Amino acid sequence: MASVGSRNAKGRRRGMTIKFYDGQRYELVRTEPYTRLDGGHTTLAVWRPACPTCGEMFETRTPVRARRFSCRRCPRHKRPGVRVNRPRGAEACK
Ligand SMILES: [Zn+2]
Repeated sequence: MASVGSRNAKGRRRGMTIKFYDGQRYELVRTEPYTRLDGGHTTLAVWRPACPTCGEMFETRTPVRARRFSCRRCPRHKRPGVRVNRPRGAEACK
């Protein structure tokens, strides 16, 4: 019988969630409750990616179930009409 070692071998920090989307790293900072316009309650995930233009970290929010990120740049470099491979169906910025 093989004895399997510690199940925590991955060594990840507890509660730390990192997602990689199209080469950009998104770190989950926290989640916060959000009331939609129709009165429904949902939860927003607050992510902290680095702006691909200046490298500065900024915060962006998506619904927790969103799998795509449409906010790719920091508020200073977010320019209307300039796309960063925006995928179809990406969630809009909150
Ligand atoms: Zn920037």
